[in-house]
Amino acid sequence: MRGPRPKGPRTVTSAWSATGAGVALACSFRYLMESIIPEPTPSNPLAVWGQALHYVFQLFYTPHPSTGNYPYAKLEALLAIWGRVWLGAVNKEHPYNSLREFRSPYNQALKNPMQPEEVAWEYEGQHWTLYQEGIKVLTAFHAQNEERRRNGTIRLLEQSFTIRRWHGLELHGVIDRIDIRAEKEKAQLVDYKNGRLVVPELESGIQLTIYQLAFFHLRANGQIPGQPSLVAMFAYNYRRQEYQRARLRGPDDVGQLFWTLLQLRVYWDGVLFGREYPPEFTRDMTNLKLRDMKSGDASPLLPRGDHCRYCRVFQQCREWELGKRPRAREAYAEHYQLRQAKRMELQRVIPIASHPLVVNEADRYRRLAELVRPVPMTMEELMAPILAPAKARSRQKAS
Ligand code: SF4
Repeated sequence: MRGPRPKGPRTVTSAWSATGAGVALACSFRYLMESIIPEPTPSNPLAVWGQALHYVFQLFYTPHPSTGNYPYAKLEALLAIWGRVWLGAVNKEHPYNSLREFRSPYNQALKNPMQPEEVAWEYEGQHWTLYQEGIKVLTAFHAQNEERRRNGTIRLLEQSFTIRRWHGLELHGVIDRIDIRAEKEKAQLVDYKNGRLVVPELESGIQLTIYQLAFFHLRANGQIPGQPSLVAMFAYNYRRQEYQRARLRGPDDVGQLFWTLLQLRVYWDGVLFGREYPPEFTRDMTNLKLRDMKSGDASPLLPRGDHCRYCRVFQQCREWELGKRPRAREAYAEHYQLRQAKRMELQRVIPIASHPLVVNEADRYRRLAELVRPVPMTMEELMAPILAPAKARSRQKAS
């Protein structure tokens, strides 16, 4: 039973992951329960299966650090490591996305609280069905990717990124794969998916827009070898072994992304802290959102439908319907205070600086300062913080 690390008031409404933002747009209650005040909830079987497959795809493309050989290049080796990863995780020896043992001597010495994951299996023997399904996926993946692995492409795998201070927002996430051709001039992004992406997502979904910005940011930071141009983005549907080409994003998409995330921030500032913004920030919001901001609650998107696929907080959602859940604002305040109290017990911290009252007050002033800051209007203004490191370097070179 694991989940994301809970966020404190400083970042809870301004820091967005590429996947978290998608969840928040689809259903506020789900985002609250999965990312803001996560409760120990068993994971969805297909979600952990996807994590395990991602990890094995990564192993396939990773050379051994000393020999430079690829230990899982042969199909038999790939299927053998799949068995070890999946069955080991089912037996609670390590997480689904790594081979790091839960109870390794290192973790024990640290008294690491990491716990094995509970999975809400839908029927008896589902882990075995998914194991065999994984063999089929990896056999097809191998046939399709073995040639690509040998073509001299440089690959960045599971490339994490954080874009701090993007006009009052922070973006973070992980890009599954960046392929850079040997001549280092052209790059493409690959995002692994458990199913087909629909056309609107390929055309302008925010997850890929964030990845494109992240690519520019990583390149500006010198984290991508050479200065390759981004020539394509793909969603790889590993269940059907299909590469779907996505549209490269333009200025309108970046502006749209910024406005969408700003609206999310305004909404959650209202829900969690009762903060008010001028009407131009809220005029596009639905009545449901405006009501949530006033009442301090985060409503699920009812009736349930496609957006509920892989949702692991269905039980809590039912409780909300029956009026058995506290409002989001109270739940968050209590959750945060409990967490702070626990942290202060464990750490030698300066008590006054981390007291919730001090944090909240300091945060209030910071937000007031941000409110009077002008909203970026041009592409140049929008992109400035993303390309800032490259500009600083070229200024340094010139001087
Ligand atoms: S079950 Fe559906 S409506 Fe309920 S929280 Fe999950 S995604 Fe939202």
